[in-house]
Amino acid sequence: MLLKETQSKLLPTLKKYFGYDSFRDQQQLIVESVLLKKDNLVIMPTGGGKSICFQLPALLFEGVTLVISPLIALMKDQVDGLNANGITADFYNSSQEKFEQDAIFDKVVNKEIKLLYVAPESLSFLENILNETYFSCIAIDEAHCISSWGHDFRPSYQQLGFLKKLLPNTPIIALTATADKATRKDILEQLNIPKAAQFLSSFDRKNIELEVRPANDRVLQIIKFIRKKPSEAGIIYCLSRKSTEQLAEKLMQNGINAKAYHAGLNFIERTKAQEDFIYDKTQVVCATIAFGMGIDKSNVRWVIHYNMPKNIEGYYQEIGRCGRDGLDAKALLFHSYSDVIQLRKFMSGASNEEVQVAKLERMKQFSEATTCRRKILLSYFGELLSENCGNCDVCKNPPQVFNGTIIAQKALSVITRLNENEAIGTVIDVLRGAHNAAILDKGYDKLKSHGVGKEISWRDWQQYIIQLINQGYCEIAFHKNNALRLTQFSKKVLFENATVSLTKAVDIKEQQILQKEPKVTKAKKDTLFERLRKLRHQIALEENIPAYLVFSDATLK
Ligand code: ADP
Ligand code: MG
Ligand code: ZN
Repeated sequence: MLLKETQSKLLPTLKKYFGYDSFRDQQQLIVESVLLKKDNLVIMPTGGGKSICFQLPALLFEGVTLVISPLIALMKDQVDGLNANGITADFYNSSQEKFEQDAIFDKVVNKEIKLLYVAPESLSFLENILNETYFSCIAIDEAHCISSWGHDFRPSYQQLGFLKKLLPNTPIIALTATADKATRKDILEQLNIPKAAQFLSSFDRKNIELEVRPANDRVLQIIKFIRKKPSEAGIIYCLSRKSTEQLAEKLMQNGINAKAYHAGLNFIERTKAQEDFIYDKTQVVCATIAFGMGIDKSNVRWVIHYNMPKNIEGYYQEIGRCGRDGLDAKALLFHSYSDVIQLRKFMSGASNEEVQVAKLERMKQFSEATTCRRKILLSYFGELLSENCGNCDVCKNPPQVFNGTIIAQKALSVITRLNENEAIGTVIDVLRGAHNAAILDKGYDKLKSHGVGKEISWRDWQQYIIQLINQGYCEIAFHKNNALRLTQFSKKVLFENATVSLTKAVDIKEQQILQKEPKVTKAKKDTLFERLRKLRHQIALEENIPAYLVFSDATLK
């Protein structure tokens, strides 16, 4: 328990230095846990208010709080912000002059600052003073960068494990907006804080309407979209620098106040682009994902993904930049197979290629989903939404559903029988009672549930299982050969008789035929029939039967 005396300081400090009357959601619990010198992992959506969780304790600790943050560009902003609130803080990096660095050393040693921001690469410079005499707390911002399971892996983060060894009694607070389960585990292991208290805020941002559209004519669609919202600020994320510029150009030609932003611009151009957006001089920014980290603009009304993001974490983080004020906002994603292929190419050869590809696959499944998209997003982060959200395109225009409880039970029990060790292909093979070499080798044909789902085709099973994943009833273990495994919600289906709704599987073959029926000229038809006639004759001769028995009328049609 926190001392009464400390406890009574929390709200007044929040008010005095940050100007807020109350804590949001879990902020107070987290602040208390830090002050109790426990290690903590905080997962809170972008804009949720992570900074308070270490900045406020920093004010109450005796020594300095070390803040590790990956973006040198943002450190200055954050430190300026703190200083403006009357909090002493500084940052340290390798581009500073020697005398500046010396001055910072002095400030730490004399405990004249409450927070010191450092990039992980620069930590070694602090070697001589990095000890518990001077430092009271360590905050690791954007902690997902530590994990190669995460979506934004930075090798310089991987060395941070030494901190706990060097300062064993100093609380560590690791913070990030996006980390799936495997990433969370990895963060704790690598930081040597296996027993850290975990604070998982809800990932639900109800005010953001989700929509996915096919990418045909996307520029035209975007122009129409923006014209309907002439005064609303928005961000359009593109994959390449070039496309940010081309798109901004096209929008401007259409009378839309747009600007491009990417890492190829120089510092002054970038700052100007950011400021023009923040101060509402630019309505639309066409940007690469470099844009938005740490930008505190609460009235961004929409985010468009011109290209597919490479994974759900990235998508979620980017859409999280709209509607931070809690008012209605909209996220529109253009789904394109050529983008998927492009992204796949970028990934080839990466050290964690397999993980990246599996995450891209999940992104693709999200885009193609026929179930509530918010359910999918939340289940990705380990949350189960009990009702459909009503604020996504699928909810607003629902496909037909049926009671798929038995299908779900069959799939989940096969996953159980396979000890959660096999990927979707094998699970379906067992459901369908396949007798291929892989199944026989592993003796899966002897399993009781071998063949329990014979009546459903392979392709349909694939779609149903993806729907089950999307609804959170099972999940893909990306770092374990993409094995399917159960989630905490599986037992609701297996043992508690929960009803599972599924969408009728679409017949992909039929769809393709419908879409791509080629135009056949009469002449071509005639030759086809001529070939059929000959073939029929030939078979009739070989089989010594009358020709009319060879093909039924139905086949001929
Ligand atoms: P994160 O790092 O989680 O993305 P920030 O710490 O930058 O989020 O906070 C996002 C916004 O929420 C900021 O504008 C911040 O001032 C505001 N905020 C944080 N905590 C509170 C609070 N308790 N009451 C009101 N506003 C808050
Ligand atoms: Mg932050
Ligand atoms: Zn929905």
